[in-house]
Amino acid sequence: MPWHVIAQAIATQTGKAFKVEHKGSVGGGCINTAYKITGLDRREYFVKFNRADKLEMFEAEADGLRELAKAQAVLVPEAIGTGIAGRQAYIVMEYLPFGGSDQGATRHFGGQLAQLHRCTSDRYGWQRDNTIGATHQPNDREDSWLDFWRQHRLGYQLTLAKSSGYSSRALNKGEQLLDQLEVFFTDYSPPASLLHGDLWGGNFAISFSGEPVIFDPAVYYGDRETDLAMTELFGGFSADFYAAYNEAWPLDAGYKTRKTLYNLYHIINHYNLFGGGYGQQAEDMLDRLLSEAG
Ligand code: ADP
Repeated sequence: MPWHVIAQAIATQTGKAFKVEHKGSVGGGCINTAYKITGLDRREYFVKFNRADKLEMFEAEADGLRELAKAQAVLVPEAIGTGIAGRQAYIVMEYLPFGGSDQGATRHFGGQLAQLHRCTSDRYGWQRDNTIGATHQPNDREDSWLDFWRQHRLGYQLTLAKSSGYSSRALNKGEQLLDQLEVFFTDYSPPASLLHGDLWGGNFAISFSGEPVIFDPAVYYGDRETDLAMTELFGGFSADFYAAYNEAWPLDAGYKTRKTLYNLYHIINHYNLFGGGYGQQAEDMLDRLLSEAG
């Protein structure tokens, strides 16, 4: 690995020479190879590598971290830079030591997430596309949330599912749902909130100093309920967290139904990435949503 390229990027960005003294691999990621690097001067950074053609993915991640940081609501690692080192694309960011004990941090995060969601845009989408897992995520700006969700989220994943070999029976159910989406949005029109976009438990941590941290985002502006729904998809967030969020910004009663709709996006994405039982799980969700749509 040409570490001198990474060291140069750190030196340029921070205005202070950097020489890598130690590097150790970090596990736990789903997509990339990750390292913690330490400089001669003890400064620490977190670096992820992937194939060179994934540079845009890292650029979008860095932009996402910067967008979240601007909101000053939740701590995120500072993005230092992205580029190509040898045959690999890289992203380098501030290393944050994780593993602090909760001591109210998850509850605190509930209020912070509501604060993040209070940062709004006049349109849904974002200034650039990014990725969700390893899948392209289009963020074309739209004035209507329903149009955005139909076209750039659910519709987009269903089109990919067709190429992934999803059954025509399930795809037909998906088409039916796309035609009936309005039903889930009577009396509900969410503001375009700044979203983490991929808020499962694996992208949340508590720093050694007890601060909630979020990372590895798939940022865009959309319905805040999508972030909440994803926290429920694979678990990991305490009742305290939801109580604090609801205190800060109560959720609409229709969230209970829409959360299945919103998580369907992620489950179809998982089917597209990993196949297996996710196809059936998505079809069960489609059945439930279609029966609720009447
Ligand atoms: P991937 O993009 O491959 O999913 P992640 O961004 O989730 O990788 O990072 C992998 C693991 O590295 C995380 O689960 C987390 O424990 C750790 N990690 C991520 N970002 C940082 C950071 N800035 N500082 C310290 N550790 C980090």
